[in-house]
Amino acid sequence: MRPYEAYVYAYPHKTAYRELDPRPPLAKVWAAEPTDALFLYLHVPFCEMRCGFCNLFTRTGAPAELVSAYLDALGRQAQAVRRALPGDARFATTAIGGGTPTYLEASELARLLDLAEQVMGADLAATPLGVETSPATATPDRLTVLAERGTTRVSIGVQSFIDTEAKAALRPQRRSEVETALAAIRAAGFPTLNIDLIYGIAGQTPATWRYSLDAALAWRPEEIYLYPLYVRPLTGLGQLDREWDDQRLALYRQGRDHLLAAGYEQVSMRMFRLPGTGSGTEYCCQTDGMVGLGCGARSYTADLHYSFEYAVGVRHVRAIIDEFVGLPATAFEVANYGFELDDLERRRRHLIQSLLQAEGLDRPAYQARFGSDALDDFPLATFADRGWLTDDPSHIRLTPEGLAHSDAIGPALFSGHVRDLMDSYALR
Ligand code: SF4
Repeated sequence: MRPYEAYVYAYPHKTAYRELDPRPPLAKVWAAEPTDALFLYLHVPFCEMRCGFCNLFTRTGAPAELVSAYLDALGRQAQAVRRALPGDARFATTAIGGGTPTYLEASELARLLDLAEQVMGADLAATPLGVETSPATATPDRLTVLAERGTTRVSIGVQSFIDTEAKAALRPQRRSEVETALAAIRAAGFPTLNIDLIYGIAGQTPATWRYSLDAALAWRPEEIYLYPLYVRPLTGLGQLDREWDDQRLALYRQGRDHLLAAGYEQVSMRMFRLPGTGSGTEYCCQTDGMVGLGCGARSYTADLHYSFEYAVGVRHVRAIIDEFVGLPATAFEVANYGFELDDLERRRRHLIQSLLQAEGLDRPAYQARFGSDALDDFPLATFADRGWLTDDPSHIRLTPEGLAHSDAIGPALFSGHVRDLMDSYALR
């Protein structure tokens, strides 16, 4: 089993979504859902440049008129979605992601936050709010708006503190720009700073990886995410898959051990945090209730996951954004693309998203939710045989080596149906 099959950040993946026919009205979709503690997600599909490793829904070089038209469309969508939700629906957490949300100017960010507060009804001053940013766009004027409006977590994609490595990962940036951005974020006083780093870059060695880890640790960020690179480095031509896997696994273990020794706790294969600093802005996987706004955002109810059309390729992303900004309010009253979860898929989702956390799957909680034991529902012996999984009456957990192989274990737990849909999806 190869260690780097896929990053399972959600189940099922958007490539398993299909056009819904008929398109269900959102008022019906949300009518019977618990809506007292929803997660609000706003998607900004713009970036100043396209990183070589990116497979997110985003476009570069968006002109100001397009950004403005996108915010207009988000406003129409927010109105329609809010009308469809029960009147007493409440948001417990808000996150703004992308893309790069700080591609927006300070005044545009204020407009976006107004939408979250005034239209959707999120109480940003009293609930966690997470925002993603980049070294080039984390400017004091934008950060001031974010801080004043109650942002509790800022996450910045640094990837490497070595300019040549950043360039090799096709994210050209200067160390000085990164340090200036980090200083500005710290000066703005957000409770939680998260720094993203990447391992597996061409030319990266244990020594250079250690250098980047230490440069990140110098800021004592409350959270650090370590991401394996997934797009083969161009300069790695001739390198065997096996060698690249071995390089990534070795750098992963080094990074994990280094952060643990620095006092961080491991939350998942990618996430490490200082004890006692949870920001509360992560989507809690076992619960449902996510309301996404924006053309790349997903929304989750217990039975239906839905979004707009998905694409990664430049031409199709642009076409979808162009279509989105022209949509009338009525187009936002229905779910367009999606995946309906039956009982077994709900169990599977709960299993996958719990098991890939260091905390593991809480067996009594699973039993209380589904009326059965997870080990009776899913055959996990193959992972236990490899030394990747242990269980006791309270939890099923991945071992340290199991966590290291999260990107193999997650995909291996997909249902045949989801796998078929993903395989037959024509990536655009
Ligand atoms: S900044 Fe993030 S979303 Fe934008 S291109 Fe880079 S990886 Fe993708």
